Amino acid sequence: MGRAAFFIRLYGCPVHCPWCDSAGTWHPDFTPTDIARMLPEQLADEAVSTKADFAVITGGEPAIHDLGPLTSALRRNGIRRHIETSGAFPIQGEFNWITVSPKWGRLPIRDNLRMADELKIIVETPDSITHWIEWIGEDMHADHVWLHPEWSQRNNPNVLNAIGEAVKTLGSPFRAGYQIHKLFKIDEQDPRSRPPVPLGGKDHACHTVDKRNS
Ligand code: SF4
Repeated sequence: MGRAAFFIRLYGCPVHCPWCDSAGTWHPDFTPTDIARMLPEQLADEAVSTKADFAVITGGEPAIHDLGPLTSALRRNGIRRHIETSGAFPIQGEFNWITVSPKWGRLPIRDNLRMADELKIIVETPDSITHWIEWIGEDMHADHVWLHPEWSQRNNPNVLNAIGEAVKTLGSPFRAGYQIHKLFKIDEQDPRSRPPVPLGGKDHACHTVDKRNS
């Protein structure tokens, strides 16, 4: 958190979380029409031209793609490779750091949970934390388990209190997280970024859906 990262957001995600903050990478209403195709080497060159400490390959869901060529190009240019994935698909590529952010819409593969360096749990409601801890069970091996408020709930005191209490009572590896890049509007001010789209790609009134039983 707080470090310069070169974000590569790949297109396409079949999970469709109702509060997705990257719906511009999969929602049909926001499909870009002016796409310039880039080769992996070109992306790696652009990453090198920045002061970023590392590249984060994310999405949409990045693991629906074979990331071998892209991660090889980044490695050849000396760029550390991180991936942030729902964990629902096999990870193809060479990574230095794996973040699995599990989603109820499509549950993660157990092997991905076990190999993750960190987990990022999105806290939609106060009981999200206990539900995920129960579901992940013995596969909670990661050194860091971040508890992030789902962005539309970032001012909900019940969600924030649940995160604070969990960190105080459970201790390590649990940590309270927050998407601070949104406070700084880092994405919005970067000319390479797309304009922001609504959470989930639609009006947010009906969000915070618990899909555990769907
Ligand atoms: S939050 Fe992640 S997994 Fe969910 S729809 Fe968005 S990109 Fe896909």
